[in-house]
Amino acid sequence: MLETLKEQPADKILALMQMYKDDPRDLKVDLGVGVYKNAEGVTPVMRAVKEAERRLVETQETKAYTGLAGDPEFADAMIDLILDGTVARDRIAAIATPGGTGACRQGFELVRLANPDAKIWHSDPTWPNHLSILKFMGMPAQSYRYFDEATALVDFDGMVEDLGTVAKGDIVLLHGCCHNPTGANLTAEQVEKVISVLKERDAIPMIDLAYQGFGDGLDADAATTRAIAGAMDECLIAASCSKNFGVYRERTGLLMAISAEAGQTKTVQGNMNYLNRQNYSFPPDHGARVVTTILKDPDLRADWEAELEEVRLGMLELRKQLAGELARLTNSDRYAFIAEHRGMFSRLGLPPEVVERLRTDHGIYMVGDSRMNIAGLNEKTVPVLAKAIVEAEKA
Ligand code: PMP
Repeated sequence: MLETLKEQPADKILALMQMYKDDPRDLKVDLGVGVYKNAEGVTPVMRAVKEAERRLVETQETKAYTGLAGDPEFADAMIDLILDGTVARDRIAAIATPGGTGACRQGFELVRLANPDAKIWHSDPTWPNHLSILKFMGMPAQSYRYFDEATALVDFDGMVEDLGTVAKGDIVLLHGCCHNPTGANLTAEQVEKVISVLKERDAIPMIDLAYQGFGDGLDADAATTRAIAGAMDECLIAASCSKNFGVYRERTGLLMAISAEAGQTKTVQGNMNYLNRQNYSFPPDHGARVVTTILKDPDLRADWEAELEEVRLGMLELRKQLAGELARLTNSDRYAFIAEHRGMFSRLGLPPEVVERLRTDHGIYMVGDSRMNIAGLNEKTVPVLAKAIVEAEKA
């Protein structure tokens, strides 16, 4: 049987990571994989996470199974963090999932269970794993215009035009903040317009929120999600704790499904529990319990928020530095968008041969579509990258 299997396409980002590891040069810069790194190139365990884990070791008395939806306190704490009361709690069903990927997957599963004909509309481009999961599941998918290559900002007219053709009951997948891979985000006014188009078309939003706290702050980064969830009858939200709590490998996420009426929540919750049961029974608990401990303890929460804020401001500073350095070297505002983008990524709009030259001639690794992870930089490598970009473009 196993001899019938064919090679699967390699994950491009993971392949890039390997090439970086194998590069013998001393000065090399990894701007590939989507993991936060501090100025020393380390992905630290956050202080509050360490403390919460210490407390768990001391106080946890059982590792017996949780419920199929995971710990209800985790769901409550996350719903609070993300929605802050904008939607009545009794309209929300939620399950803990293995990371944001698990939340996306279970969200798609729920759509398929409820309406197998629904098409999933996603931004062009989007996180490649959205596409790969949808393809694997055989779900109908279509892109809407999102990124304007020329300005490196959102092609909002194109987006609205495409969303204007969405069929009733279709799902519109949106990034809650810090769009991956582009870094280009909607303004509050644009979000309002999207809401009116969604209502006009009778479409259902699904929001992927993987970077709350990495853009403009915890509340500001939830604003799009709150506005959409607050305005629509139905909404799905797939949230990840991987980045903002730095618990990548613990696989911590939550899927929320908001119903039009509180009376529907029990059945929706039952279906979501059922999906967990079919796919892996009980969701992972350690990361979820750490997150809950932090969110519920005022001191731990304050410390987590402070450290997250340091991370966010550090990335913003690197953005400003890089945009400034490129403005100086090119004598233009061509790269001003880098300081406008938010989150861990920016798509620079460089052609593949320039990305290739950055790698071969300068030891700078970014994804082939010219997405760079801003957190892979530090004060010293910002000027190195800026100079390399200018040289690689000229070559
Ligand atoms: N959605 C987006 C847009 C992401 O960038 C990521 C992480 N790369 C995820 C979801 C899922 O992250 P995880 O499964 O690690 O929580």
